[in-house]
Amino acid sequence: MRVRPKENKIFNPRMECMSRDELRELQSKRLRETVKLEYENVPLYRGRMDARGVKPEDIKTVDDLRFLPFIEKTDLRDEFPFGLLAAPKSEIIRIHGSSGTSGKPIVSGYTQNDVDVWTEVVARALTAAGGGKDDIIQVAYGYGLFTGGLGAHQGATKIGAMVLPMSSGNTQRQILMMKELGVTMLCCTPSYATFLGESIREMGISPEELNLKSGCFGAEPWSEEMRVNLEELLGIDACDIYGLTEICGPGVAFECLEKQGMHVNEDNFIIEIIDPVTEEPLPYGQSGELVFTTITKTGMPMLRYRTRDICRLNDAPCECGRTHVRMDRITGRTDDMLVISGVNVFPSQIESVLVGLDGVSPHYMLIVDRVKSKDKLEVQVELTEEMFSDTVAEIEKLRDDIKEKIKSVVGINTKVHLVPPKSIPRSEGKAKRITDNRKI
Ligand code: ADP
Ligand code: ZN
Repeated sequence: MRVRPKENKIFNPRMECMSRDELRELQSKRLRETVKLEYENVPLYRGRMDARGVKPEDIKTVDDLRFLPFIEKTDLRDEFPFGLLAAPKSEIIRIHGSSGTSGKPIVSGYTQNDVDVWTEVVARALTAAGGGKDDIIQVAYGYGLFTGGLGAHQGATKIGAMVLPMSSGNTQRQILMMKELGVTMLCCTPSYATFLGESIREMGISPEELNLKSGCFGAEPWSEEMRVNLEELLGIDACDIYGLTEICGPGVAFECLEKQGMHVNEDNFIIEIIDPVTEEPLPYGQSGELVFTTITKTGMPMLRYRTRDICRLNDAPCECGRTHVRMDRITGRTDDMLVISGVNVFPSQIESVLVGLDGVSPHYMLIVDRVKSKDKLEVQVELTEEMFSDTVAEIEKLRDDIKEKIKSVVGINTKVHLVPPKSIPRSEGKAKRITDNRKI
Protein backbone atom coordinates (compact mmCIF):
# COMPACT_ATOMS: atom_id res chain seq x y z
CA MET A 1 0.00 0.00 0.00
CA ARG A 2 1.08 3.56 -0.64
CA VAL A 3 2.57 5.63 2.11
CA ARG A 4 2.27 8.91 0.23
CA PRO A 5 0.00 11.42 2.03
CA LYS A 6 -3.49 11.42 0.55
CA GLU A 7 -4.19 14.61 -1.38
CA ASN A 8 -7.82 15.59 -1.59
CA LYS A 9 -8.19 17.98 -4.51
CA ILE A 10 -11.54 18.72 -6.10
CA PHE A 11 -11.73 20.25 -9.57
CA ASN A 12 -15.24 21.70 -9.37
CA PRO A 13 -16.37 21.76 -5.73
CA ARG A 14 -19.53 23.68 -6.61
CA MET A 15 -20.79 20.79 -8.80
CA GLU A 16 -19.05 17.87 -7.15
CA CYS A 17 -20.05 18.71 -3.58
CA MET A 18 -23.55 20.09 -4.17
CA SER A 19 -26.26 19.08 -1.69
CA ARG A 20 -28.41 16.16 -2.83
CA ASP A 21 -31.52 18.38 -2.89
CA GLU A 22 -29.87 20.99 -5.04
CA LEU A 23 -28.48 18.28 -7.32
CA ARG A 24 -31.94 16.79 -7.77
CA GLU A 25 -33.32 20.17 -8.79
CA LEU A 26 -30.53 20.65 -11.28
CA GLN A 27 -30.93 17.13 -12.69
CA SER A 28 -34.68 17.57 -13.11
CA LYS A 29 -34.25 20.87 -14.92
CA ARG A 30 -31.59 19.47 -17.24
CA LEU A 31 -33.61 16.31 -17.83
CA ARG A 32 -36.62 18.37 -18.96
CA GLU A 33 -34.42 20.24 -21.44
CA THR A 34 -32.87 17.05 -22.81
CA VAL A 35 -36.21 15.28 -23.23
CA LYS A 36 -37.57 18.27 -25.15
CA LEU A 37 -34.47 18.38 -27.35
CA GLU A 38 -34.73 14.68 -28.15
CA TYR A 39 -38.47 14.70 -28.79
CA GLU A 40 -38.19 17.60 -31.17
CA ASN A 41 -35.14 16.41 -33.09
CA VAL A 42 -34.81 12.63 -33.02
CA PRO A 43 -37.54 10.64 -34.81
CA LEU A 44 -36.66 7.43 -32.95
CA TYR A 45 -37.28 9.01 -29.55
CA ARG A 46 -40.40 10.81 -30.68
CA GLY A 47 -41.77 7.56 -32.09
CA ARG A 48 -41.03 5.58 -28.95
CA MET A 49 -42.39 8.21 -26.61
CA ASP A 50 -45.55 8.57 -28.71
CA ALA A 51 -45.98 4.80 -28.68
CA ARG A 52 -45.95 4.92 -24.86
CA GLY A 53 -48.20 7.95 -24.77
CA VAL A 54 -45.51 10.05 -23.07
CA LYS A 55 -45.12 13.72 -23.94
CA PRO A 56 -42.13 15.88 -22.97
CA GLU A 57 -44.39 17.81 -20.53
CA ASP A 58 -45.01 14.56 -18.59
CA ILE A 59 -41.36 14.42 -17.55
CA LYS A 60 -41.08 16.91 -14.71
CA THR A 61 -38.56 15.45 -12.28
CA VAL A 62 -35.97 12.71 -12.05
CA ASP A 63 -38.72 10.43 -10.67
CA ASP A 64 -40.48 10.54 -14.04
CA LEU A 65 -37.48 9.00 -15.75
CA ARG A 66 -39.06 5.56 -15.48
CA PHE A 67 -41.77 6.59 -17.96
CA LEU A 68 -39.19 7.04 -20.70
CA PRO A 69 -38.28 4.25 -23.14
CA PHE A 70 -34.82 2.68 -23.09
CA ILE A 71 -32.24 2.94 -25.81
CA GLU A 72 -29.52 0.39 -26.49
CA LYS A 73 -26.54 -0.44 -28.62
CA THR A 74 -28.62 -2.06 -31.36
CA ASP A 75 -30.44 1.27 -31.81
CA LEU A 76 -27.12 3.01 -32.37
CA ARG A 77 -26.25 0.41 -34.99
CA ASP A 78 -29.62 0.71 -36.70
CA GLU A 79 -29.39 4.50 -36.77
CA PHE A 80 -25.71 4.46 -37.79
CA PRO A 81 -24.16 6.92 -38.39
CA PHE A 82 -26.23 10.08 -37.87
CA GLY A 83 -29.81 8.98 -37.18
CA LEU A 84 -29.67 9.83 -33.49
CA LEU A 85 -28.17 13.31 -33.77
CA ALA A 86 -30.22 15.94 -31.98
CA ALA A 87 -28.11 18.79 -33.40
CA PRO A 88 -27.58 19.81 -37.03
CA LYS A 89 -24.60 18.04 -38.56
CA SER A 90 -22.85 21.40 -38.94
CA GLU A 91 -22.73 21.67 -35.12
CA ILE A 92 -20.91 18.35 -34.74
CA ILE A 93 -17.18 18.84 -34.29
CA ARG A 94 -16.04 15.31 -33.46
CA ILE A 95 -16.89 11.68 -34.03
CA HIS A 96 -15.78 8.82 -31.82
CA GLY A 97 -16.59 5.17 -32.13
CA SER A 98 -16.64 2.09 -29.98
CA SER A 99 -13.68 -0.21 -30.35
CA GLY A 100 -16.08 -2.77 -31.69
CA THR A 101 -15.05 -5.49 -29.27
CA SER A 102 -18.66 -6.47 -29.05
CA GLY A 103 -19.78 -6.38 -32.67
CA LYS A 104 -20.45 -3.91 -35.44
CA PRO A 105 -19.14 -0.36 -34.94
CA ILE A 106 -21.20 2.41 -33.47
CA VAL A 107 -20.38 6.10 -33.53
CA SER A 108 -21.28 9.11 -31.47
CA GLY A 109 -21.26 12.77 -32.54
CA TYR A 110 -20.04 15.54 -30.23
CA THR A 111 -20.84 19.25 -30.33
CA GLN A 112 -18.33 21.72 -28.87
CA ASN A 113 -20.48 21.67 -25.73
CA ASP A 114 -20.19 17.86 -25.53
CA VAL A 115 -16.42 17.93 -25.86
CA ASP A 116 -16.36 20.58 -23.11
CA VAL A 117 -18.53 18.48 -20.79
CA TRP A 118 -16.34 15.44 -21.41
CA THR A 119 -13.14 17.42 -20.90
CA GLU A 120 -14.42 18.69 -17.58
CA VAL A 121 -15.37 15.26 -16.24
CA VAL A 122 -11.95 13.85 -17.10
CA ALA A 123 -10.33 16.90 -15.48
CA ARG A 124 -12.30 16.05 -12.34
CA ALA A 125 -11.05 12.45 -12.49
CA LEU A 126 -7.40 13.41 -12.89
CA THR A 127 -7.69 15.98 -10.11
CA ALA A 128 -9.26 13.36 -7.84
CA ALA A 129 -6.27 11.09 -8.51
CA GLY A 130 -4.00 13.89 -7.27
CA GLY A 131 -3.32 15.58 -10.63
CA GLY A 132 -2.65 19.27 -11.23
CA LYS A 133 -0.65 21.70 -13.30
CA ASP A 134 2.70 20.47 -12.01
CA ASP A 135 2.09 16.97 -13.29
CA ILE A 136 3.49 15.25 -16.34
CA ILE A 137 0.83 12.90 -17.63
CA GLN A 138 1.59 10.04 -19.96
CA VAL A 139 -1.44 9.02 -22.00
CA ALA A 140 -0.98 5.42 -23.13
CA TYR A 141 -4.58 4.78 -24.12
CA GLY A 142 -4.98 4.45 -27.86
CA TYR A 143 -5.74 7.67 -29.76
CA GLY A 144 -8.25 7.58 -32.57
CA LEU A 145 -11.91 6.67 -32.71
CA PHE A 146 -11.49 5.00 -29.31
CA THR A 147 -12.31 7.60 -26.65
CA GLY A 148 -9.52 6.66 -24.23
CA GLY A 149 -6.59 8.59 -25.69
CA LEU A 150 -8.21 11.89 -26.60
CA GLY A 151 -10.43 11.76 -23.54
CA ALA A 152 -7.50 11.57 -21.13
CA HIS A 153 -5.55 14.05 -23.24
CA GLN A 154 -8.25 16.74 -23.10
CA GLY A 155 -8.73 16.34 -19.36
CA ALA A 156 -5.00 16.51 -18.70
CA THR A 157 -4.73 19.67 -20.82
CA LYS A 158 -7.63 21.21 -18.92
CA ILE A 159 -5.90 20.84 -15.56
CA GLY A 160 -2.82 22.46 -17.07
CA ALA A 161 -0.60 19.41 -16.81
CA MET A 162 2.20 18.63 -19.26
CA VAL A 163 0.76 15.97 -21.56
CA LEU A 164 2.75 13.21 -23.17
CA PRO A 165 0.47 11.78 -25.88
CA MET A 166 2.17 8.40 -26.34
CA SER A 167 -0.91 6.45 -27.42
CA SER A 168 -0.68 2.69 -26.85
CA GLY A 169 2.09 0.32 -27.86
CA ASN A 170 5.85 0.59 -28.23
CA THR A 171 6.43 -0.42 -24.65
CA GLN A 172 10.19 0.19 -24.57
CA ARG A 173 9.71 3.76 -25.73
CA GLN A 174 6.90 4.32 -23.24
CA ILE A 175 9.24 3.30 -20.43
CA LEU A 176 12.15 5.34 -21.71
CA MET A 177 10.01 8.49 -21.89
CA MET A 178 8.42 7.78 -18.52
CA LYS A 179 11.84 7.60 -16.91
CA GLU A 180 13.63 10.39 -18.78
CA LEU A 181 10.82 12.93 -18.54
CA GLY A 182 9.98 12.09 -14.94
CA VAL A 183 6.36 11.29 -15.73
CA THR A 184 4.18 11.61 -12.61
CA MET A 185 0.86 10.16 -13.79
CA LEU A 186 -0.10 7.38 -16.16
CA CYS A 187 -3.39 6.85 -18.00
CA CYS A 188 -4.04 3.53 -19.79
CA THR A 189 -5.92 0.27 -19.39
CA PRO A 190 -5.10 -1.58 -16.15
CA SER A 191 -3.87 -4.58 -18.11
CA TYR A 192 -1.45 -2.46 -20.13
CA ALA A 193 -0.31 -0.68 -16.97
CA THR A 194 0.45 -4.08 -15.42
CA PHE A 195 2.38 -5.05 -18.52
CA LEU A 196 4.33 -1.78 -18.38
CA GLY A 197 5.06 -2.45 -14.72
CA GLU A 198 6.33 -5.94 -15.46
CA SER A 199 8.45 -4.70 -18.35
CA ILE A 200 9.94 -2.00 -16.14
CA ARG A 201 10.97 -4.65 -13.62
CA GLU A 202 12.47 -6.78 -16.38
CA MET A 203 14.56 -3.87 -17.54
CA GLY A 204 15.99 -3.73 -14.04
CA ILE A 205 14.35 -0.40 -13.22
CA SER A 206 12.86 -0.08 -9.75
CA PRO A 207 9.76 2.05 -9.09
CA GLU A 208 11.92 4.38 -6.96
CA GLU A 209 13.84 5.41 -10.06
CA LEU A 210 10.60 6.65 -11.59
CA ASN A 211 8.70 9.74 -10.60
CA LEU A 212 5.26 8.16 -10.95
CA LYS A 213 2.73 8.88 -8.21
CA SER A 214 -0.66 7.84 -9.55
CA GLY A 215 -2.77 6.91 -12.51
CA CYS A 216 -6.31 6.64 -13.86
CA PHE A 217 -6.95 3.19 -15.26
CA GLY A 218 -10.11 2.00 -16.96
CA ALA A 219 -11.86 0.96 -20.16
CA GLU A 220 -11.98 -2.68 -19.01
CA PRO A 221 -12.93 -4.57 -15.87
CA TRP A 222 -10.28 -5.14 -13.21
CA SER A 223 -10.22 -6.26 -9.62
CA GLU A 224 -9.08 -5.06 -6.23
CA GLU A 225 -6.26 -7.60 -6.31
CA MET A 226 -5.10 -6.27 -9.67
CA ARG A 227 -5.02 -2.82 -8.09
CA VAL A 228 -2.80 -3.98 -5.24
CA ASN A 229 -0.49 -5.68 -7.70
CA LEU A 230 -0.32 -2.63 -9.98
CA GLU A 231 0.27 -0.24 -7.10
CA GLU A 232 3.18 -2.35 -5.96
CA LEU A 233 4.64 -2.81 -9.42
CA LEU A 234 4.67 0.90 -10.19
CA GLY A 235 4.75 2.40 -6.71
CA ILE A 236 1.60 4.43 -7.32
CA ASP A 237 -2.00 5.07 -6.33
CA ALA A 238 -4.12 3.39 -8.97
CA CYS A 239 -7.60 4.86 -9.45
CA ASP A 240 -10.42 3.41 -11.51
CA ILE A 241 -12.14 5.43 -14.25
CA TYR A 242 -15.25 4.37 -16.15
CA GLY A 243 -16.97 5.45 -19.29
CA LEU A 244 -18.40 4.43 -22.61
CA THR A 245 -18.51 6.00 -26.04
CA GLU A 246 -22.29 6.26 -26.11
CA ILE A 247 -22.30 8.49 -23.03
CA CYS A 248 -19.08 10.44 -23.81
CA GLY A 249 -16.08 8.20 -23.11
CA PRO A 250 -13.94 7.90 -19.98
CA GLY A 251 -14.92 10.13 -17.09
CA VAL A 252 -18.56 9.20 -16.67
CA ALA A 253 -17.46 8.02 -13.21
CA PHE A 254 -14.11 8.04 -11.43
CA GLU A 255 -12.50 7.13 -8.16
CA CYS A 256 -11.14 9.57 -5.61
CA LEU A 257 -8.13 8.58 -3.52
CA GLU A 258 -10.42 6.91 -0.98
CA LYS A 259 -10.61 4.13 -3.62
CA GLN A 260 -14.03 3.04 -2.44
CA GLY A 261 -15.96 3.18 -5.69
CA MET A 262 -16.35 5.63 -8.56
CA HIS A 263 -18.23 8.92 -8.18
CA VAL A 264 -20.70 9.31 -11.02
CA ASN A 265 -20.70 12.84 -12.48
CA GLU A 266 -24.35 13.20 -11.60
CA ASP A 267 -24.69 16.81 -12.68
CA ASN A 268 -24.16 15.49 -16.23
CA PHE A 269 -25.37 11.90 -16.12
CA ILE A 270 -28.31 10.40 -14.26
CA ILE A 271 -27.60 6.85 -13.21
CA GLU A 272 -30.12 4.07 -12.64
CA ILE A 273 -29.73 0.39 -11.85
CA ILE A 274 -32.32 -1.92 -13.34
CA ASP A 275 -33.14 -5.58 -13.24
CA PRO A 276 -31.96 -6.67 -16.71
CA VAL A 277 -34.88 -9.05 -17.10
CA THR A 278 -37.88 -7.16 -15.69
CA GLU A 279 -36.36 -3.75 -16.58
CA GLU A 280 -37.60 -2.39 -13.24
CA PRO A 281 -35.38 0.10 -11.37
CA LEU A 282 -33.56 -1.38 -8.36
CA PRO A 283 -32.64 0.38 -5.10
CA TYR A 284 -29.10 1.38 -4.14
CA GLY A 285 -27.05 -1.54 -2.92
CA GLN A 286 -28.56 -4.09 -5.28
CA SER A 287 -26.63 -5.44 -8.20
CA GLY A 288 -28.10 -4.87 -11.65
CA GLU A 289 -27.60 -3.29 -15.05
CA LEU A 290 -26.40 0.30 -15.28
CA VAL A 291 -28.55 2.73 -17.22
CA PHE A 292 -27.41 6.27 -18.01
CA THR A 293 -29.25 9.39 -19.10
CA THR A 294 -27.14 12.29 -20.31
CA ILE A 295 -28.51 15.68 -19.26
CA THR A 296 -25.96 18.13 -20.63
CA LYS A 297 -25.11 16.68 -24.04
CA THR A 298 -26.51 18.29 -27.17
CA GLY A 299 -25.00 16.32 -30.11
CA MET A 300 -26.26 12.84 -29.43
CA PRO A 301 -27.88 12.83 -26.00
CA MET A 302 -28.98 9.48 -24.60
CA LEU A 303 -32.11 8.86 -22.57
CA ARG A 304 -31.96 5.69 -20.46
CA TYR A 305 -29.10 4.02 -22.29
CA ARG A 306 -28.74 0.36 -21.28
CA THR A 307 -25.04 -0.31 -20.81
CA ARG A 308 -25.18 -4.10 -20.18
CA ASP A 309 -22.64 -3.45 -17.42
CA ILE A 310 -23.44 -5.06 -14.10
CA CYS A 311 -22.74 -3.08 -11.00
CA ARG A 312 -23.98 -1.79 -7.64
CA LEU A 313 -24.50 1.78 -6.42
CA ASN A 314 -23.54 3.21 -3.08
CA ASP A 315 -24.99 6.49 -1.78
CA ALA A 316 -23.12 6.53 1.54
CA PRO A 317 -21.23 9.82 2.03
CA CYS A 318 -17.59 9.69 0.94
CA GLU A 319 -14.68 10.93 3.04
CA CYS A 320 -13.52 13.14 0.16
CA GLY A 321 -16.56 15.42 0.45
CA ARG A 322 -18.01 14.74 -2.98
CA THR A 323 -21.76 14.17 -2.81
CA HIS A 324 -22.13 12.23 -6.05
CA VAL A 325 -23.09 8.57 -5.66
CA ARG A 326 -20.48 5.94 -6.23
CA MET A 327 -20.60 2.85 -8.40
CA ASP A 328 -18.71 -0.27 -7.40
CA ARG A 329 -16.42 -2.06 -9.78
CA ILE A 330 -18.14 -3.49 -12.82
CA THR A 331 -18.58 -7.17 -12.04
CA GLY A 332 -19.49 -8.27 -15.55
CA ARG A 333 -21.63 -7.54 -18.54
CA THR A 334 -24.97 -9.13 -19.22
CA ASP A 335 -23.64 -9.93 -22.69
CA ASP A 336 -20.15 -11.10 -21.60
CA MET A 337 -21.75 -13.58 -19.35
CA LEU A 338 -20.79 -17.06 -20.37
CA VAL A 339 -23.43 -19.69 -20.01
CA ILE A 340 -21.63 -22.95 -19.46
CA SER A 341 -23.79 -26.02 -19.18
CA GLY A 342 -26.57 -23.73 -18.07
CA VAL A 343 -24.51 -22.02 -15.38
CA ASN A 344 -23.95 -18.29 -15.66
CA VAL A 345 -20.26 -17.55 -15.41
CA PHE A 346 -18.69 -14.12 -15.32
CA PRO A 347 -14.99 -13.91 -16.11
CA SER A 348 -14.65 -11.62 -13.10
CA GLN A 349 -15.59 -14.51 -10.81
CA ILE A 350 -12.75 -16.60 -12.15
CA GLU A 351 -10.44 -13.63 -11.92
CA SER A 352 -11.32 -13.10 -8.27
CA VAL A 353 -10.13 -16.64 -7.56
CA LEU A 354 -6.88 -16.31 -9.49
CA VAL A 355 -5.73 -12.98 -8.21
CA GLY A 356 -5.93 -14.11 -4.62
CA LEU A 357 -3.42 -16.92 -5.17
CA ASP A 358 0.34 -16.99 -4.82
CA GLY A 359 2.25 -18.45 -7.72
CA VAL A 360 0.05 -17.19 -10.54
CA SER A 361 0.06 -13.87 -12.39
CA PRO A 362 -3.07 -11.83 -13.12
CA HIS A 363 -2.96 -12.92 -16.77
CA TYR A 364 -5.46 -15.56 -17.78
CA MET A 365 -7.52 -16.77 -20.68
CA LEU A 366 -10.85 -18.59 -20.69
CA ILE A 367 -11.42 -21.04 -23.49
CA VAL A 368 -14.89 -22.42 -23.94
CA ASP A 369 -15.60 -25.40 -26.13
CA ARG A 370 -18.34 -27.87 -26.75
CA VAL A 371 -17.28 -31.49 -26.93
CA LYS A 372 -19.97 -34.10 -27.65
CA SER A 373 -22.61 -31.49 -26.77
CA LYS A 374 -21.04 -30.85 -23.40
CA ASP A 375 -19.62 -27.45 -22.54
CA LYS A 376 -16.05 -27.37 -21.34
CA LEU A 377 -14.29 -24.46 -19.76
CA GLU A 378 -10.55 -24.36 -19.80
CA VAL A 379 -8.80 -21.79 -17.68
CA GLN A 380 -5.30 -20.94 -18.77
CA VAL A 381 -3.31 -19.33 -16.01
CA GLU A 382 0.19 -18.01 -16.13
CA LEU A 383 2.64 -19.08 -13.46
CA THR A 384 4.97 -16.57 -11.88
CA GLU A 385 8.71 -16.98 -12.50
CA GLU A 386 9.23 -18.31 -8.96
CA MET A 387 6.46 -20.88 -9.23
CA PHE A 388 7.59 -21.92 -12.69
CA SER A 389 10.89 -23.12 -11.29
CA ASP A 390 9.17 -25.05 -8.52
CA THR A 391 8.72 -28.80 -8.32
CA VAL A 392 6.12 -30.64 -10.35
CA ALA A 393 4.38 -31.72 -7.17
CA GLU A 394 3.95 -28.14 -6.08
CA ILE A 395 2.69 -27.02 -9.45
CA GLU A 396 0.18 -29.84 -9.46
CA LYS A 397 -1.00 -28.90 -6.04
CA LEU A 398 -1.53 -25.33 -7.23
CA ARG A 399 -3.54 -26.58 -10.20
CA ASP A 400 -5.83 -28.65 -8.00
CA ASP A 401 -6.21 -25.75 -5.66
CA ILE A 402 -7.34 -23.43 -8.46
CA LYS A 403 -9.76 -26.02 -9.81
CA GLU A 404 -11.32 -26.50 -6.42
CA LYS A 405 -11.59 -22.79 -5.68
CA ILE A 406 -13.28 -22.12 -9.03
CA LYS A 407 -15.67 -24.95 -8.34
CA SER A 408 -16.61 -23.45 -4.99
CA VAL A 409 -17.07 -19.91 -6.38
CA VAL A 410 -18.66 -20.59 -9.76
CA GLY A 411 -20.04 -24.06 -9.24
CA ILE A 412 -18.63 -25.75 -12.31
CA ASN A 413 -15.78 -28.07 -13.14
CA THR A 414 -12.99 -26.61 -15.20
CA LYS A 415 -9.82 -27.77 -16.77
CA VAL A 416 -6.98 -25.71 -15.40
CA HIS A 417 -3.98 -25.35 -17.61
CA LEU A 418 -0.92 -23.71 -16.07
CA VAL A 419 1.26 -22.03 -18.65
CA PRO A 420 4.77 -20.54 -18.48
CA PRO A 421 5.30 -16.91 -17.50
CA LYS A 422 4.65 -14.39 -20.32
CA SER A 423 2.98 -16.93 -22.59
CA ILE A 424 -0.50 -15.39 -22.61
CA PRO A 425 -0.58 -12.60 -25.20
CA ARG A 426 -0.50 -9.12 -23.66
CA SER A 427 -2.79 -6.46 -24.98
CA GLU A 428 -1.93 -2.82 -25.40
CA GLY A 429 -5.54 -1.82 -25.12
CA LYS A 430 -8.39 -3.78 -23.67
CA ALA A 431 -7.44 -7.30 -22.63
CA LYS A 432 -9.15 -10.15 -24.48
CA ARG A 433 -9.77 -12.91 -21.99
CA ILE A 434 -12.38 -15.15 -23.54
CA THR A 435 -12.24 -17.44 -26.54
CA ASP A 436 -15.55 -19.13 -27.19
CA ASN A 437 -15.12 -21.93 -29.72
CA ARG A 438 -18.63 -23.27 -29.39
CA LYS A 439 -20.71 -23.30 -32.53
CA ILE A 440 -24.22 -22.96 -31.29
P1 ADP B 1 -16.74 -1.42 -26.59
O1 ADP B 1 -15.72 -1.97 -25.63
O2 ADP B 1 -18.09 -2.05 -26.43
O3 ADP B 1 -16.27 -1.38 -27.98
P2 ADP B 1 -16.27 1.24 -25.36
O4 ADP B 1 -14.89 1.35 -25.85
O5 ADP B 1 -17.09 2.46 -25.37
O6 ADP B 1 -17.02 0.13 -26.19
O7 ADP B 1 -16.23 0.61 -23.93
C1 ADP B 1 -17.23 0.77 -22.96
C2 ADP B 1 -17.27 -0.41 -22.06
O8 ADP B 1 -15.98 -0.68 -21.49
C3 ADP B 1 -18.17 -0.21 -20.87
O9 ADP B 1 -19.53 -0.41 -21.17
C4 ADP B 1 -17.62 -1.23 -19.89
O10 ADP B 1 -18.12 -2.53 -20.18
C5 ADP B 1 -16.13 -1.22 -20.18
N1 ADP B 1 -15.46 -0.35 -19.20
C6 ADP B 1 -15.06 0.92 -19.35
N2 ADP B 1 -14.44 1.38 -18.22
C7 ADP B 1 -14.48 0.38 -17.33
C8 ADP B 1 -14.01 0.22 -15.98
N3 ADP B 1 -13.38 1.17 -15.32
N4 ADP B 1 -14.25 -0.97 -15.38
C9 ADP B 1 -14.89 -1.97 -16.02
N5 ADP B 1 -15.33 -1.89 -17.29
C10 ADP B 1 -15.13 -0.73 -17.94
ZN1 ZN C 1 -14.80 10.23 -2.75
